[in-house]
Amino acid sequence: MNSEQILEHFCQTDALLEGHFILSSGLHSPNYLQCALALQYPADMAKFGKAIARHYANERIETVASPAIGGLIIGYAVAQALNVRFIWTERENDTMTVRRGFSVKEAERILVVEDVITTGGSTRECIAALETRGAKIIAAASIIDRSNGAADVGVPRISLVSLEVPSFKPEDCPLCAKGDEAIKPGSRK
Ligand SMILES: [Zn+2]
Repeated sequence: MNSEQILEHFCQTDALLEGHFILSSGLHSPNYLQCALALQYPADMAKFGKAIARHYANERIETVASPAIGGLIIGYAVAQALNVRFIWTERENDTMTVRRGFSVKEAERILVVEDVITTGGSTRECIAALETRGAKIIAAASIIDRSNGAADVGVPRISLVSLEVPSFKPEDCPLCAKGDEAIKPGSRK
């Protein structure tokens, strides 16, 4: 799947909306992204998983790891495509940690996978939690990069689609300036 086909899939599943939206941050944007909607069907997931996995076929990846919750489904799909194990990190008292009895070997070669990278925060925290256990993080990958390439997670990184999603303070919003009313995503009929 190329990036245009993926974007088309995101639009068809309403995972990527165009209009005038109030984001959870309170900022306004002409786009709204809800990645989970694009990942509802396992057959689609498998395609995204293979598209990411093919970048790492020769990297001797031993494990795929994802930060919960956003990364879980795509991480599993990438692990399946690479035929390696899959683990995840999750927050405990605000700190990203390895729980559930998952073990990590010294120098284990791990690929970190997320659905969407915005600032790279969750991926960086996931990497840090695994490195604390001695893992070697080979790379990080996501389906969507909302930072348009800017997010630095400290290891080589790829994404299937790079998106610039502009956002504005309400007082600076060009759509508001045109008199258009902003809506909360989900309130659209
Ligand atoms: Zn606005």
